[in-house]
Order: sequence, then structure tokens, then C-alpha cells
Amino acid sequence: MNKNVLVTGGSRGIGAATARLLASQGWRVCINFVSQVEAAQAVVDDISRAGGQALMVAADVSQPDQVQRMFEFIDREMGVLHGLVNNAGVIAPMIRFEDMEPARWNRILGTNLLGTMMCAHAAVRRMSTRHGGAGGAIVNLSTALTRSGAPGMYVDYAAAKSAIETLTVGLAREVAGDGIRVNCVRPGLIDTEIHASGGDPGRAAKAKDFVPLKRAGLATEVAQAIAWLLSEQASYTTGGFIDVSGGV
Ligand code: NAP
Repeated sequence: MNKNVLVTGGSRGIGAATARLLASQGWRVCINFVSQVEAAQAVVDDISRAGGQALMVAADVSQPDQVQRMFEFIDREMGVLHGLVNNAGVIAPMIRFEDMEPARWNRILGTNLLGTMMCAHAAVRRMSTRHGGAGGAIVNLSTALTRSGAPGMYVDYAAAKSAIETLTVGLAREVAGDGIRVNCVRPGLIDTEIHASGGDPGRAAKAKDFVPLKRAGLATEVAQAIAWLLSEQASYTTGGFIDVSGGV
């Protein structure tokens, strides 16, 4: 296939499952991570053992200089970029809005929203036929929580993800004539380590109580939707959304 894709936050959870699946489909994958180098290395090693191609790059997607360096690394080490999965994301402990401190919002909005925007910005500049690029596809990660707004838990996170959904629609229409498709996947409750960082490591196990399909989802199930949206099979889909949420 000889196509290159960047998966932000590709070292664990949904990003790691996506990186593995894309590599098995022939994509050359750049795995971004922020701190857990061993986890990123393990994904690269798995992909190599399976006969695929992968690189890894450390960068905090909330930091403009680090995003710039990451894309320069891709230019140098991979060449043409054909795909971007804006997956890196964080939550914070479940608390009411009035108990949140603004410092928390710098991290929640910085990583989830600004990180997605900065990576999309760098990718569009490279992919756009308007700038001499060969086109490409971008998949953004939102959450099923944008429907409820996550009251009492993380309304800041839900608000950041809602902005990502609006960005998806507007950017998709803006660059549709420039060879770039932009779509979004909305996972529901997926069994990854993100819930521990939100102060509730057992959250996925409780899913059966309120998810119509009576279980948490798997990272691999979200990866399937992301990989389809990136692929040529989705060539007439842009500004679209896929819910992978067990019916929530
Ligand atoms: P996860 O298991 O916690 O993994 C997060 C990944 O993002 C890790 O690879 C982590 O790197 C990376 N990361 C975190 N902050 C970063 C930063 N500032 N810069 C670069 N990379 C960063 O998360 P997940 O559950 O797979 O979630 C992936 C995406 O799906 C997120 O956007 C999340 O909001 C969304 N989502 C998840 C669920 C769910 O239930 N799991 C539901 C809805 C939406 P390190 O390993 O270096 O820390």
C-alpha cells in the first residue's frame, strides 16, 4: 500500500489497537505517545514481529513546538503523510463543574481540543492538493458523552469533544475540494486505562448496567471504525460520524 499514517496516542488503548490494525492492513504507522515509552515500544515491536512497519515519536500534542517537531520527524522519516488519527485524549477526575479549577481546563482543552486542531492543521498543510499535497484522510475521536454533556462527571471533557465534532464538520466541508476527507468516531464506554486516570478504574466493568448491549466495548471494536473511515472504502464519506457505543 505504501501509505503513511500518524496515530496520536498510539501507544495504549484505542490508539494502540488502531495502530496494530492499520499496520496489518499495510499502512506504515507512526505511533505518537507522550510519556510511556515502553508502551509505545511494545506496539512498535508487535507490529514489526507481525511483518508490519512502525515508527514512534514522543510529543505532547497540547504543545505547538512539540507538534511541529513531530510533523518534521514524519516529513524526514516517512515522507508523504496520507492519514491522521487524532486519538490522543485525556480525562480528569469526575467532579461537578463548580468544583473544577481552571488549571484542569488547560489540560483537558489543551490535549483534547487544541491537540486535535494543531495536528489537523499540520496534516492539512501537508495533504491538501491546494498546497501541492496528494490528499488524505483524518479521523477525529470524540465521545458518546457529547450527547449528555457528562453532567456531574466531566462537562469540560464533553465540551472539548463537542468542539471536535463541530471542527470535523466545518473542516470536512472546507477541505473536501482539496482531496482530504475528515470524519469522526464517537466511542461509548471502552475498556481502556483512561478510566483509571479519571479516578474510576472499574468503570468499564460497570457498563452492563446502563449500556443497551450490556458490556463495555473493546479498543479493537473502535479501531475497526477508524480504519474503515481512513480507507478507500469510505471514499464518499466526509464530515461523518460513527457511534461505537453499544447503543448508548
Ligand atoms: P488511554 O488508554 O488513556 O490512552 C491514551 C493515549 O493518549 C496514550 O497513548 C497516551 O500516551 C496518549 N496521550 C495522552 N496525553 C497525550 C498528549 N498530551 N500528547 C500525546 N499523547 C497523549 O485512552 P483511550 O481510552 O484509548 O482513549 C483514546 C481516545 O478515545 C481519547 O481521545 C478518548 O477521549 C477517546 N474516548 C475513549 C473512551 C473510553 O471509554 N476509553 C470513550 C470515548 C472516547 P502515554 O502512553 O505516553 O501516556
